[in-house]
Amino acid sequence: MAGKITLTMIKPGAFRKGNTGPILSMINEAGFRISAMKLTRLSTRQAEKFYAIHRSKPFYESLVDFMSSGPIVAAILEKENAVDDYRKLIGETNPENAEEGTIRKLYAESLQMNAVHGSDSDENALIESDFFFAKNERTDCM
Ligand code: ATP
Ligand code: MG
Repeated sequence: MAGKITLTMIKPGAFRKGNTGPILSMINEAGFRISAMKLTRLSTRQAEKFYAIHRSKPFYESLVDFMSSGPIVAAILEKENAVDDYRKLIGETNPENAEEGTIRKLYAESLQMNAVHGSDSDENALIESDFFFAKNERTDCM
């Protein structure tokens, strides 16, 4: 399993702007298979937990507010080398530094409202997938 999945969220800003479809289309065209997906909304508590690693950062509170401000789409994406390949597809955290043709270059509104999340390691991909999905909601576990 390790190395084959990553967890993405289409963040509230991109969802609000109606960019869910175009982003999912880019994900498909890049060769990722969607093995779980849900439309949901993070509570403040859930957003705090998901981003707990950033608790000491100055942007933490505002990030938690933003991430719980509206619906998101969470999905598990399956592909060889999923974590690294997906981070290449989404581009740099700050859209000003993101390469042309990346999801963040096309759809991010700002450093914070940067359209999508992507796991940063195989270990976190597994943890974050378990955060959103039960085994019977994931074809990679069926
Ligand atoms: P993500 O974890 O969402 O995929 P990332 O791994 O590229 O993004 P992290 O460093 O993990 O970036 O930061 C998590 C999120 O926090 C970023 O995606 C962004 O929304 C927000 N963020 C990061 N740095 C800043 C900052 N300096 N100011 C405001 N928001 C920030
Ligand atoms: Mg990160």
